[in-house]
Amino acid sequence: MSTIRFDSVRETFRRKPLEVVSKGKRSELFGSNVFNEMVMRESLSKEAYKSVMDAIELGSRIDRKLADEIAAAMKNWALSKGATHYTHWFQPLTGATAEKHDAFFEPISNAHAVEKFGGDQLVQQEPDASSFPHGGIRNTFEARGYTAWDPTSPAFIYGTTLCIPTVFVSYTGEALDNKVPLLRALQAVDNAATDVAKYFDKNVTKVNATLGWEQEYFLVDKALAASRPDLVLAGRTLLGHSPAKGQQLDDHYFGSIPDRVLNYMRDLEQECMLLGIPVKTRHNEVAPNQFELAPIFEEANLAVDHNSLLMDVMDKIADKHNFKILFHEKPFAGINGSGKHNNWSLSTNTGVNLLSPGSTPMKNLQFLTFFINTIKAVHDYEELIRSSIASATNDHRLGANEAPPAIISVFIGSQLTKVLDELEDVSTGKLSPKEKTDLKLNVVGKIPEILLDNTDRNRTSPFAFTGNKFELRAVGSKANCAKPMTVLNSIVAKQLIEFKGEVDSLIAKKGLKKDEAIFNVLREYIKASRKIRFEGDGYSEEWEKEAEKRGLSNNKTTPVALEGAVSDKVIKLYESLGVMTLREIEARHEIELEEYVMKVQIEGRVLGDIARNHVIPTAIRYQNTLIENVRGLKEVFGSDFKKYAGEQLDLITAISGHIAEINSMVNKMTDERRSANKLASGKDKAVAYCKKVLPYFEKIRYHCDKLELMVDDDLWPLTKYRELLFTR
Ligand code: ADP
Ligand code: MG
Repeated sequence: MSTIRFDSVRETFRRKPLEVVSKGKRSELFGSNVFNEMVMRESLSKEAYKSVMDAIELGSRIDRKLADEIAAAMKNWALSKGATHYTHWFQPLTGATAEKHDAFFEPISNAHAVEKFGGDQLVQQEPDASSFPHGGIRNTFEARGYTAWDPTSPAFIYGTTLCIPTVFVSYTGEALDNKVPLLRALQAVDNAATDVAKYFDKNVTKVNATLGWEQEYFLVDKALAASRPDLVLAGRTLLGHSPAKGQQLDDHYFGSIPDRVLNYMRDLEQECMLLGIPVKTRHNEVAPNQFELAPIFEEANLAVDHNSLLMDVMDKIADKHNFKILFHEKPFAGINGSGKHNNWSLSTNTGVNLLSPGSTPMKNLQFLTFFINTIKAVHDYEELIRSSIASATNDHRLGANEAPPAIISVFIGSQLTKVLDELEDVSTGKLSPKEKTDLKLNVVGKIPEILLDNTDRNRTSPFAFTGNKFELRAVGSKANCAKPMTVLNSIVAKQLIEFKGEVDSLIAKKGLKKDEAIFNVLREYIKASRKIRFEGDGYSEEWEKEAEKRGLSNNKTTPVALEGAVSDKVIKLYESLGVMTLREIEARHEIELEEYVMKVQIEGRVLGDIARNHVIPTAIRYQNTLIENVRGLKEVFGSDFKKYAGEQLDLITAISGHIAEINSMVNKMTDERRSANKLASGKDKAVAYCKKVLPYFEKIRYHCDKLELMVDDDLWPLTKYRELLFTR
């Protein structure tokens, strides 16, 4: 009998929900482990407080002396909360978060020690960064990388460590993390959107991008997960036959949350409260053992940090509750995958959501301006967006057998489609008084504050307008939101700059009134971006054909999709906005290709191992039992034995056939891997892994899964899908 599998199932059955001790009311817990505005106001001098606020709102520098004062206040606060260590917390290009802990404690003589933490330690650190990916930016003579305090994201305590969010840059100033480009993109969109918002309200001085992510994930019992080498090493199952029952009955989605999971969620939410992560909703997802967590939206940089932090925290709390959390986009074949919808909007310092329809024609013209510019930006840079969500793991969702597709399109609903259709007919140049009134009353004025068709909105669209925000749905559950957010905010910034230029020029050169100029430019944008709008089912062959006719890209795999991040057009975009230099763009591209290769390579090795060392030996053992049986039948029945051993003989033959296929496929896959490894360019290697190595996965899996159905359940060593998905 396969001991690991059955032991793990037994262990899972014995589990009890872990008690969660309440630490108090949520409203009181909220943010209590965060060095936030309130704490700063209490613990800093007016001058120091103002300098932090200016740094947050205006991006100004913090003076050295004040940094010392802030560090001292931070230290005292952290010590009072039981912290013993501090760390510069950052997000290197591995996608995960990184930290190096230092103790506050410092001996000053044999007999004395102090808790030390000054401005120097707060503002800048030099982590031993040699192991983080840099895509060639840090060659040896400039090998140093620095982390620098990002005051726009508040410090927090996790466990007994004071965590200081930082950016990670090279000695020569290039970004080595996901956050630097994001901060630059957010600055760009702030500037551009503020300029445009001023057409409508002179009091606007700042525009924040907002982000509300929705994190999907699977929970599997820790013991069950540990019994599967593929889950341990690749984060997904590389083989396993579908269970007799999958997600057809939808009973999980509507069912109550299991107790063990509920306690994990309560524990997690309590931790989120302490860390100031405003999580609000929780529910079951479509697939068995799949769940979702969503917060109230926040300023985008903070929201990105919170998502990265949350993924760490989720992992730890899940472990405490004896679960393994799976962030992989497609942990189980044939079962819905996980995504991370990125809800995005722009919001002014005067408290206005620029993507929210308003109560007056003026407010709605403002709404339409930002709405149409966003669509135009997505139209112009659809391939860049696609590249920002590309990864080996997300390839199993996008463009595979699941919505959303790899084709980027925009869904806006029938009401707004009608509005845009009418705006397309606006006259060129000056508008007659009648047309102006008509536009105000019957087109712009008719947009309701709450749009009706957002309840039954299209679920298969990768980029959908959902009433007062756009929702980028194609982001993978494992992804760092910084990447798509950098792209989205950059392209909208670029678009708004262009828009302002065109409107100003119509006013100056053609003598148009502001509104007339805006209508004129928007009309052209609506026409120019028509092909990106699609209201139908994004997950259909007809749409693939139609999209091709329209000239939209359909980049199904990561090596191809990543090309969209290094085109001349993209380089110009990033350089002109100051978001990234050519060197930074190329370094990132290199890292992403490398990461792709590594992921497929690891999976290939794991699959080869499992097939050879687990599946084939098990099949042979079972086959031997059958052979024994046939031999016995022969003894009993003599030459008549075939009459009784027909099934067994068929099975013996079939098993041999599958074993032979597996062996041959694994050999071929290994050969392809070897040839791919010899290729010099990152691009060629990634393409080879995608086109030559990866296709063997399905073939090997097919035969392994067939054997799973034949072999005695008692012997099968790998925990089965039904056990992984339905054991609670
Ligand atoms: P669902 O898409 O699951 O039906 P909702 O529409 O209620 O859920 O909201 C989903 C997410 O959108 C939430 O995380 C919420 O915080 C976020 N959200 C709402 N308004 C905005 C906004 N203005 N900017 C960014 N995110 C937003
Ligand atoms: Mg959603």
